[in-house]
Order: sequence, then C-alpha cells, then structure tokens
Amino acid sequence: MKSVEIITGDITRLPCQAIVNAANNRLLGGGGVDGAIHRAAGPQLLEECRTLGGCPTGECRVTKAYRLPCQLVFHTVGPVWHGGGAGEAELLAACYRNCLEEAARRSVTSIAFPGISTGVYGFPKDLAARIAMREIRAFLQRPSSVEKVLVVCYPAENERYYRGL
Ligand code: ADP
Repeated sequence: MKSVEIITGDITRLPCQAIVNAANNRLLGGGGVDGAIHRAAGPQLLEECRTLGGCPTGECRVTKAYRLPCQLVFHTVGPVWHGGGAGEAELLAACYRNCLEEAARRSVTSIAFPGISTGVYGFPKDLAARIAMREIRAFLQRPSSVEKVLVVCYPAENERYYRGL
C-alpha cells in the first residue's frame, strides 16, 4: 500500500532510502536544509557535488549520502519566489516530479522531501504545500518502485500547511 506521511523533524536523521535536498544552482552547499545536509553528510558530499557542474532550477542531481543514515541524496533546485508571475509554481512542481521520476529510475522505495523553496527562497508555504501534495499524489497513482513518500515539516509548525490537504 503506497503512502504519503507528513512528519515533523530533521530530514538528516531519517533512515529512509533517499532524502531530497533543497539546494541552489551551484550545488556547493548553503544555509537551511542544504547546510544541515552537508554538515551531517561530511565533506565528501561537497567533493562529489563539485563534480556535477551545478543544476538548473526544477531539475535534480543525485549523490551518495556518505555519513547520513539514508543511501542517496537528491539535490533539487527550487525557484526563488518573485511574486508568482515567473513560472514559480510550475518550477516547484517540476522539482517534485523530477525527483520522484529519478527515484523510480533508481528503484528507490522511500524518499523524504523538505519544503522546497519555503525557506530563504520565500515561496508561500500554503501554495507550496498544495503543489507538493498534488505532485506526490499524482505520481503515486502510477506504478513505480516508490512506496513511501515522507513530507518533512521543519519546524513543526509548518505541519499546519499540510493538514487537511
Ligand atoms: P530554500 O532555499 O529552498 O527555501 P531552505 O533550506 O531555506 O531552502 O528551506 C527549505 C525548507 O527546509 C524550510 O521549510 C526549512 O524550514 C526547512 N528545513 C531547514 N532545515 C531543515 C532540516 N534539517 N530538516 C528538514 N527541513 C529543514
């Protein structure tokens, strides 16, 4: 039975197969969840990221997870919110879709997402939650290896954007 779970916590602690990083175009680390993932994974993650040559907004790149308890890290680059007229919603949807499709190509069964773009990139949290849930649900309706998707709310108060969706 496939499932989407809304949980609270630190994505770097999750023992699921893959976690998603809300990275930036250079893929060379940053603040927020990106910084937390790089700190927890150790310096080898940055070394591997340096070989990737960055990532366009809406796409994803996959690395090993090094000291993290998961096995793979999907680095995706969410859009910076510029008011909504610059294709932000479609780009955010593409992040979720591209990560899930790549997870399926790699036979991943469980993957955890943070609230991509909802930190310093300024995407409205309620709209971001609706886009995330819509894309995850649509993806899970089609056959693939992915059985479980975790949506990680951090801090805990972000859970309210997902409740009732
Ligand atoms: P972006 O630049 O895409 O906005 P941020 O890292 O600033 O990325 O924020 C994305 C989301 O990740 C925010 O909702 C933030 O609260 C959350 N976040 C920050 N640290 C963690 C963590 N350790 N685990 C899970 N989510 C986190």
